[in-house]
Amino acid sequence: MSNSLPQSGRAAAQILDELKGFASLDPKYKEGRLWSLSYYLDEDFEKFLGQAYQAFSGANGLNPSAFKSLKRFENEIIGITTHLLHGPAEACGVLTSGGTESCLLAVKTYRDLAASQRRVKKPEMIIPVTAHVAWFKASEYFGVKLRLLPLDAQLRADVSRLEGLINRNTVMILGSAPEYPHGTIDPIEAMGEIAQRHAIPLHVDACVGGFILPFMELNGRALPLWDYRVPGVTSISADLHKYGFAAKGASTISYRNLDYLKHQMFVYQDWPGGVFASPALLGTRPGGAYAAAWATLQYFGQSGYRELAARTCEAVDRLSAGIEAIAGLKLLVAPQGPLLAYGSIDPAVNIFAVGDQMDARGWSINRLQNPDGLHAMVTAQHLAVVDAYLADLQAAVATVRSHPELAQQGSAATYGMLSHVPLRGLVKRRVLDIFAAMYAPGGGAIDLSASVDNAGTEPDAAHGKTPLLERLMMKYVSWKSRQR
Ligand SMILES: *Cc1c(COP(=O)(O)O)cnc(C)c1O
Repeated sequence: MSNSLPQSGRAAAQILDELKGFASLDPKYKEGRLWSLSYYLDEDFEKFLGQAYQAFSGANGLNPSAFKSLKRFENEIIGITTHLLHGPAEACGVLTSGGTESCLLAVKTYRDLAASQRRVKKPEMIIPVTAHVAWFKASEYFGVKLRLLPLDAQLRADVSRLEGLINRNTVMILGSAPEYPHGTIDPIEAMGEIAQRHAIPLHVDACVGGFILPFMELNGRALPLWDYRVPGVTSISADLHKYGFAAKGASTISYRNLDYLKHQMFVYQDWPGGVFASPALLGTRPGGAYAAAWATLQYFGQSGYRELAARTCEAVDRLSAGIEAIAGLKLLVAPQGPLLAYGSIDPAVNIFAVGDQMDARGWSINRLQNPDGLHAMVTAQHLAVVDAYLADLQAAVATVRSHPELAQQGSAATYGMLSHVPLRGLVKRRVLDIFAAMYAPGGGAIDLSASVDNAGTEPDAAHGKTPLLERLMMKYVSWKSRQR
């Protein structure tokens, strides 16, 4: 690692060459080995995206009246999006840097709306336990208390519990379409009816679903209603940089009308730098990302997105059937969108050990907790690797069955401990310590099972005490033995 700026500049060709080398350390997303984080098609499309991005990479959307090009991209993208989501003619919105920004903005908007219209001073919001972490972050950032909605048997928000959580401090209700952990669509119609009856805004988080569910529906899939066709829905977040296949750094938040969106905006009229108005969280807004998003929508058109959705659904269907056919595994719930979650129904098959075995076979798969499981965010690109994935999954399960000790080793042991130890505060502290160490000078890759030395500064060790992770592990073991 080099911590110093080169004494003098280097040749562009040499730097670009070196960049290629860096990529070799990353997950093999271009080969369909990664089941989260990335939405990749092929090199030709990647090049097109890069060219569109580059054409506007110096342009700044901070002030929407300066770069007319960017405002036009924004207008047209929001228009296309609200049209796809069956918004009324008055629907409006803003381009953001990503799903998290869109979610944070909704919370800020509804907190401020309730403060100005109803003088709510101790704001609360109701979100399902499966809401994306961005909503938990928003709660912390903006001081909006969470009321968590539990799940029903189909792992969707339990709408029968919604009304009981509403009070005069409720500033918004959230539903997801779909939620990230299991891919289920919350019962938005029933939630919308309750929200409307109590005159509380209902946001639908379609960050992951916004640019695939509409095309699945056009392809003839039967889906519940979740967009602006549901009268109680007041806003929707939809990410362009997920199933829209835009370059990273592009999402949308739209509202049923301007009366909501106004509360998202920030104006400061007395700044010595000039009168300042901003529609979203960022100051400088990346023109390249917005140009690439606009270009992507033009490139695919409705037929292109329908084809991508069809290929994705085929991959999801084949994976679902294949997983259900492996003895010991079961889908946690039937998928309604492009996301899959599966777990073990056999005590001899530790699902996290299966995950380790899949890692060893070159796949990168996310782990779930409550309940334990493995996750797949499926894209059109994955259709080509479905058979290889299922063959490896079958082999992974067989290995885990014949080697019960694997459940107590590697990341299986760590994930098992992190998701089951009842001391959640300790888990939080330990993860924070390890995570912070990644950001210490020279901090490297995260490794939850890292030894104290690798993790860098270790306050507990420094005080001669047993490191937190080991203490956690001991509590976990004794807790587990009491369960038997
Ligand atoms: C991905 C996602 C987000 C957050 O989006 P980022 O672009 O990663 O910030 C929010 N909600 C849902 C449902 C998501 O899947």
